[in-house]
Amino acid sequence: MDVNFGGSANAGIGTVEQLQEQHDTPIPIIFMSDEDGTIETRLRASRCGGEEFFYPAVDPGQLIEKIETYTHGNTVEPYKVLVLDDSRAQAKYMETVLKKAGMTAHIITDPMQIIHALEEFSPEIIILDMYMPGCTGMEIARVIRQQDRFHSVPIIYLSAEEDVTKQLHAMSLGGDDFLTKPIDPKHLIATLHNRGRRARSLLALMIRDSLTGLYNHTHTLHLLEQEIVRARQKQQPLCFAMLDIDYFKKVNDTFGHPIGDRVLRSLSMFLKQRLRKTDHIGRYGGEEFAIILPNTRPGDARNVLNEIRERFSELLQPAGDREFNVTFSCGISSWQDDNAQILCERADRALYTSKEHGRNCVTLAES
Ligand SMILES: [Mg+2]
Repeated sequence: MDVNFGGSANAGIGTVEQLQEQHDTPIPIIFMSDEDGTIETRLRASRCGGEEFFYPAVDPGQLIEKIETYTHGNTVEPYKVLVLDDSRAQAKYMETVLKKAGMTAHIITDPMQIIHALEEFSPEIIILDMYMPGCTGMEIARVIRQQDRFHSVPIIYLSAEEDVTKQLHAMSLGGDDFLTKPIDPKHLIATLHNRGRRARSLLALMIRDSLTGLYNHTHTLHLLEQEIVRARQKQQPLCFAMLDIDYFKKVNDTFGHPIGDRVLRSLSMFLKQRLRKTDHIGRYGGEEFAIILPNTRPGDARNVLNEIRERFSELLQPAGDREFNVTFSCGISSWQDDNAQILCERADRALYTSKEHGRNCVTLAES
């Protein structure tokens, strides 16, 4: 909904306010405005069910993603919560409370198991007891924070400690919250939901490239490793493709960087629309993209990417009153029970071959 729908100021919000009155549960609304981003307008929009507010420009890719979260978003994955408490009774009680709330709980009572539990379970939230034999919860929190992968996982202390000074000290060592025992299960679950939701949205920002909304380099490699494990378990084929836009520097030099950025976004949208939901698309570098195609045979991967290459090359890229075409080159490697690094190197070499053969083509790496 355009904030100024109909032409007059805030008329769009007025319309939504009227609509929402007829519904017990408000309809989620995405507002957009190219001229009014003031706090007053944003508040009014948010009060009548405005879940998103795009200002001053709407990015089509982001908009599509938001719409997807509101239309397929009813299946929220349960939060994975790791609980460390030396009291078995307390730990069991927590497990019951968490499971009742639909969360996935993993309980440990021995602090020395923490590293193993982090790796095996990969928790999204961690609940720590303060006092345990052998070490304190604060010490454990510091060890957890020393690992990059768990740097942003919320840590919540749960303890009978009522001394606020001690609580604050514990928080300063990497904790996010301090809850005191005995805790009302309702408060605990509400805290976990808030922390979990926030952590997930931060993580989504951390793993994505801000220009295209695709996965960034690090996360793409992480996904590739996961998919290799899965392919091995399920005995399924797997392909990895690398794409590079041809003569991208010339686009930037001729039309300017904003147009260059738009080309990058148009290719990322194009890929998102034409690949399956199960494929992973990443922005690998400047004008380089990577695609992971699980359960795909090399011949099929080549056909799909060739089709995309052809259609994309026909797309007219607007630049003021001019139009131009852009092509890309592609290299594909298929997984031969090797590791991620070798798979990438083979795709990279195949991409290089495509470039050598005059660009705008797809090369399948030889096995
Ligand atoms: Mg204890």
